[in-house]
Order: sequence, then structure tokens, then C-alpha cells
Amino acid sequence: MIDTKILYGGDYNPEQWPRAVWEEDYAAFGKATIDTVTLGVFAWSYLQTDEDTYDFSRLDEMVARAVEGGARIVLATATGALPPWLAHQHPEVNRTDFQGRVHTYGQRHNACPSSPVYRRLSAELAGRIAERYAGTPGLVAWHVGNEYGGFDGGCWCEHCAAGFRVWLRERYGTLERLNDAWNATFWSHLFSDWEQIVPPNMLSEHWRGPDHTAFQGITLDYRRFQSDAMLRNFRDEKARIREHDTTLPVTTNFMGLFKPLDYHRWAEHLDFASWDNYPPGPREHTRMALAHDLMRGLKDGAPFWVMEQTPTITASRDVNPVKRPGVLRLWSWQAVAHGADAVLYFQLRQSKGACEKYHGAVLDHAGRTDTRSFREIAGLGGELAALGDAVLGARTPARVALLFDWDSWWAAEMTDGFNRHVKYPAIVLAYYRALWAAGAQVDVVPVTADLSRYDVVVAPMLHLLKGDIAARLEAVVRRGGSLLTTFWSGRVDEDDNAFLMDVPGPLGPVLGLRIEETDSAEPGVTNPVTLRLPDGEAGLGVPAKSRGGAGASWGEGGEVVAPGGAGPVDAGPGTGLVSDAGLVMEILVPDGAEVVGTYGAEFYAGTPAVTRNRPDGPDSGEAWYVATGLDDAGVEWVVRRVLDRHGLVGPYADARDVELAVRSKDGVRFAFVLSHATEPVDVVAHASGVDLLTGRTVRQGETLRLDPADVVLLREDAPRDPA
Ligand SMILES: [Zn+2]
Repeated sequence: MIDTKILYGGDYNPEQWPRAVWEEDYAAFGKATIDTVTLGVFAWSYLQTDEDTYDFSRLDEMVARAVEGGARIVLATATGALPPWLAHQHPEVNRTDFQGRVHTYGQRHNACPSSPVYRRLSAELAGRIAERYAGTPGLVAWHVGNEYGGFDGGCWCEHCAAGFRVWLRERYGTLERLNDAWNATFWSHLFSDWEQIVPPNMLSEHWRGPDHTAFQGITLDYRRFQSDAMLRNFRDEKARIREHDTTLPVTTNFMGLFKPLDYHRWAEHLDFASWDNYPPGPREHTRMALAHDLMRGLKDGAPFWVMEQTPTITASRDVNPVKRPGVLRLWSWQAVAHGADAVLYFQLRQSKGACEKYHGAVLDHAGRTDTRSFREIAGLGGELAALGDAVLGARTPARVALLFDWDSWWAAEMTDGFNRHVKYPAIVLAYYRALWAAGAQVDVVPVTADLSRYDVVVAPMLHLLKGDIAARLEAVVRRGGSLLTTFWSGRVDEDDNAFLMDVPGPLGPVLGLRIEETDSAEPGVTNPVTLRLPDGEAGLGVPAKSRGGAGASWGEGGEVVAPGGAGPVDAGPGTGLVSDAGLVMEILVPDGAEVVGTYGAEFYAGTPAVTRNRPDGPDSGEAWYVATGLDDAGVEWVVRRVLDRHGLVGPYADARDVELAVRSKDGVRFAFVLSHATEPVDVVAHASGVDLLTGRTVRQGETLRLDPADVVLLREDAPRDPA
């Protein structure tokens, strides 16, 4: 994307108020240095009033006013919600839900992805919009649909059933192969005709809900199919846009860690990634950082957009607290720090009615610009304008890869046996949080990513192994890198069938161990794991501490205490740390791996809980295995040791809630230092340079006072020639 600055603005729906108000709006946008408007996301019902009648007059007016104001325009294809006439005239466009109930008209993101009528009319509308508005001055991107996923994350109707059978034929070719993939001899499920296959829901394979299925294979495939079916909707529309515009980028707005869609399967079809950032709580800065890195990883590290965030409150939660002073700015710069080249809001003026009438907006119902929130919005707009193009297009120089895998997420959480309290995103977040706290720059990537460029690969709960991932993880270790993985990894193949070999399957050789039994415990029940490097190897000499956002921790991570109960402790040489582990305790047998952590309770007290394998001797790469749910301090202890071997523990690793995120471009490094702390923090500057937000010169080694919500954007001076 070529532009002169980070785009700033957001969704704008002027069809909800009189024309005179538009002038107030644009005057206010000017005050806030807002330059970008997204138009038409929910415009279908006024753009097309019946199957044969299109009326673009209202959108024409809105686009013309935006052009007049010199705005950058993101134009939607208007298919985010069905118009009533369409649902009435063609009931097949409505979804059938997971309970098997056929829906009538209502809500949004509500179309059956397999409906031929929906596919035809949505693509037709996208094509007509592209035909009419391609070449509009200021147009910067096409915005297809909106937040794909929708109610229940899918549809279970007859059209979807038929589409599923086609998808299965393409995937498996023969019923013999399908029966094998689904292990259909179990419970007399051998299919002898494709027509016998029905969607898995509460009328068929499920009980209790989406994660309780008698046949994981069919449910896993149905998730894949629904994700692909909605992707096909996106591709239908994009293809019609491309008939009229071959150059402008096309995207749709994702939702971060969103379970129903495998964004890795979507990514190649988007020209850039964008997402809507609505954190579930007020202290979710590590979760947001993870989501930003996941979104950046969709397009191999290319910059992404924050397509939506609220300037003040959301409206969809039971409790919707206001963003505290400085937090909007802090979180916006955090997005930029992780690779965002656009910071956009939902929305620019507050809706007049319906369920989002209290959702925060740049302008409230009165259109005031003398409020605290508007002043903060305008302040941020001024900063983004002043920064210009300095960081546009800059990349994150990550040496650490964290693997994220929707198949593992889906498969692990629908697995009977072990422990239903284990949630995949929480485990990923626990490891990400430790990497974040250490100041490591992390790419969050699919299992298909090229791993050869990373020193460290972290693969939490890689439950399902597909393709050649096991061999490529071993290659990381064989070339001297470090691999860190956890319990429940290497359990099943791509069909969700167990490997007929020791656990953890193909990962066993590189990890140097096998797992004999898997114990589970209720949340809050802990087993103390003593962590200590073998042979008195020195620890890092830093206090291990749990950090990161509230509410994100899984299990009931208790206080970390020394064996004597004297309070938090780590690790000089020869000493250890005791971590309260919980939920899952795998009982393992080393086969070459060194023991780093041991259980302290139960019949397996004294046996290994954390191991490190060095298959090529002391100078070898390392393969770490964490067989249990360590508390945050324990995860951090392990992660720091893995990072330290590669010199990847960052300069602010011991400053609690201080984040370092780096982008670089043309050999220049931009270091974002962000304080999520609630009290002032003093840190020692890691480099010399200029703070681009204040113009202040910073000298390496000087003390930087970071107030709560402070942001420093240091353009680092070129490192001195070591000679
Ligand atoms: Zn359907």
C-alpha cells in the first residue's frame, strides 16, 4: 500500500442522519486529522430494493461528499447483512443453526454460505459496486462483507449438507478413504453412499454443544468446510471486484483469535490482513499483542490494518467500561508497533438507534468535540499526521516463531478424555505472554511457515500434526535452534486419529522422550514442579515473576514460592524455582532428554515434568518439553532460558508491564516502548535515538521515566561500527 501516513478514521454510516449533520461530521474529522472513511458496510437494503432494482443514489451522495473532503475511502461491498426482501423472497438464504432450527429474518452476518441465491446476489452486488466506484478519487481499498463467521459460526442447512458432501468428495475421493479418516468402523458408522452423510450438529453427532461430538473427524471436517464455504463467499465477491479493478487491494475484517474461521486458509486470498480489535477486558495488552502478531503473520509479516476499534466503550458486553485516559492512544500505538499501517474506528458518529446506539464513536449523538474522548482522538490524529510515513511498511525483525494452528485448536477442544478445562488460546497466550514479557519479537505463524529464519520455535499444544511439520521442527533443533513444545502435542494426525506409536508421535525422537500416562486435575488443584537446570548450570539471575493481563491466565496459578515457602524465587546456579502446575500432568519416560523439572506430588512425585533434549550433544540445538500446565512464573522460567541461549531476552525484560516492539525499514530500527503499568516506571534506554513523538533526543544508558500509558517511539541511531 502506498500512502503518506498511517490511515486514521473508520466506519461511517451517514445514511442514519440528515445531510446537514454530514457537514458537522466532516468539520469534526478535520479537527481530529481523520482522513479515512469506510462506507457502505451495511448498505444492502438501500442499494438493492428487490431482486432487479438497484439504487445507488444514497451511496453516490456519501461517496461524493467524502471525495469533496479529500478523504481516503474504504468502500464496502455491502454484504454484511441481508436485506429483509431477500430473506422473505428466498428463505434459503437464512441459516439453519447448530440446534437445527431454521432461522427467519434478523441480525447480521446471517447468510447461509452455501445458498446459491446468496452467492449469486452477493457477488452481483459487489460487482455492481466495483463497476460504479472503481477509480473514485481517494479510494484505497475494497472491504468485502464484514466479520465473516456470524451466528453459531456457521450453517447446518440442506444446502450446506450438499456442499459438505461435495467438499468431502474433493478431499477424500472415495468413501473408503473417508471412512478410514473418520475411523467409521467405530460405532457402526461405515458410509456406503455420500448421501448418507449429514452435517454434525445437535440433531446428529453432538450433545451438550459444538465441542461434544461422537465423531471428531466429521466435526473437524465440518469446521474446515464452513470456513472454506465462507471463504468462497469472499472469493466470489473479490472475483467480481477484479472484473472492474485489477489493482486496489481487497480485504475483509478479521477478528483476531476467532475460532470458527481458519484465517491461515483465508490469508492467501486477501491482499492485506485487517482486523477488529475489541479486547475482552481492560488489561488485555498481551492478548492484543498476540492477536496483532497473529494477524501480521497471515501475510508473512506484511503490515496489517486495525479496521475497527472503539474510541471509548463497546456495547456488546454485560459490562462496558470506558477506556481510561491515555489508553486509546497506548493501544493504538501498540497496534502500530506490531505492524499496523492503519488505525480505524467503529465508528465515526454514534448510531442513532438499535443495539449499537451506545457503542462508542468519535462523535457522540450531540456531535460534541469538546469532550475528553474527542480530545484524545484528535491528539492521536495529530501524532499520526506528524509521524508521516516513517514506519509505513516497516517489518518486525523477529527471531522467534510461535506456531498457531486452527486445526489443533478445533481438535484439542473437542476431544473427549483428559481435561475439558484446557483451552487452546489460553495455553498459547501463556507462552506468548512469557515471550512478550521478555521483550522478544515474535512472529505468530502457521505450521506451513518457513521456520529456517528463526532461532527459536515455540509450539504450545500442537495437538494435531500435519504435513512435514514434525520433520521441520526437528530440523530447527538439528541446525542449532531451540524448540519448545508442551503437553498434548503430537497426539493426532491430520484426520484427528491417534498415531499408532508412543506419544508424542513423530515428535518423540527430537524431544527424546515418551509419554506413558496423562493425568488430569480440576482447576485449582496443583502439583508443585521444581525447575532446575541440570548439573548446576547457571540460571539467569533475574527474578522470575508472573506478569501480563488479568483474566488471561488459565488454571488457578498460585503464588510461586521457594521450597522453603519464603516467597518468589529464581535461580542462581544450582537453585530452582517451584511452579504450581495444574490441569494436565503427563507422566513421561526420558529417552535421551535431560530432566529440568520434576513433579512434587502424587504417585509420580520425583518424575520428570519438564525436559530438555540435546540430540547432538552439549553444543546441540535444544528441544524443550513441558509436560504440564505450569503457572505463569514457571512458563516464564522456561521461556527465559530458551531465549537466553540465543541472546533474545530484551532490554526491558525486568520492567513489569513495559513492552518493547520493534519495526525496521531500510536498515533503520524503530523501537516502540509502551508502558502498560499503572505506576511510573524507570528504565534504562537501550539505544540512542530520537523519540519521534516528542522530538526528544535519547541517549543510550540514560534513565527513561515512563508514566502510565506512556509511549516512546525511538528511531534508533545507526549502531556504531564495532571497529
Ligand atoms: Zn447453510
